[in-house]
Amino acid sequence: NPRIGVLALQGDVREHLAALSEADAQPVTVRRPAELADVDAIVIPGGESTTMSHLLGVLDLYDPLRERLAAGMPAYGSCAGMIMLATTILDTRPDARHLDALDITVRRNAFGRQVASFETDLQFHGVTDSAGDPPMRAVFIRAPWVESITPDVQVLARVPEGPAKDRIVAVRQNNVLATSFHPEVTGDRRVHRYFVEMVRESGV
Ligand code: GLN
Repeated sequence: NPRIGVLALQGDVREHLAALSEADAQPVTVRRPAELADVDAIVIPGGESTTMSHLLGVLDLYDPLRERLAAGMPAYGSCAGMIMLATTILDTRPDARHLDALDITVRRNAFGRQVASFETDLQFHGVTDSAGDPPMRAVFIRAPWVESITPDVQVLARVPEGPAKDRIVAVRQNNVLATSFHPEVTGDRRVHRYFVEMVRESGV
């Protein structure tokens, strides 16, 4: 089984470790460069992106992580993790660093005050396509949305209804996957299985 690191600086690390185990991966925490060097892929959890950005610098993980991503290491980011992976971030702090692994523009805390946190059922391309597949329960917590993408980026899910209808909330570009929502906090392991399959297919 692929050895998948969970960036363990801050955020919902435990939930991703549990979800990856259930999705037949071998999860390990990553807090030091030596631990990063030892994984096949990385998950960047939900949490607070500016805090994570700060800690990446403090722990000397920023440059090595950027280098691994530039070299094609598979990565999955949920919520704050999506923000960290993006090339362009709207509404962040000017000193916040990010990883430039996904050609998207994300808007932090994009869903207004009224719906800052909410749940919905949505369709996820590659996961809920067959007749009889249940929709995916998506939990949004002060989530970003994807404001724009480049042609290399594949849209996997959009908000199905309500004021943010059709906003992009899951994307993939080559070996990099990101969701605005938190599959790690539900019992549904299909997104983690999808990512573990991506890692297997990448041949690492
Ligand atoms: N609002 C957070 C940020 O900007 C993300 C929230 C989350 O990961 N649940 O980093």
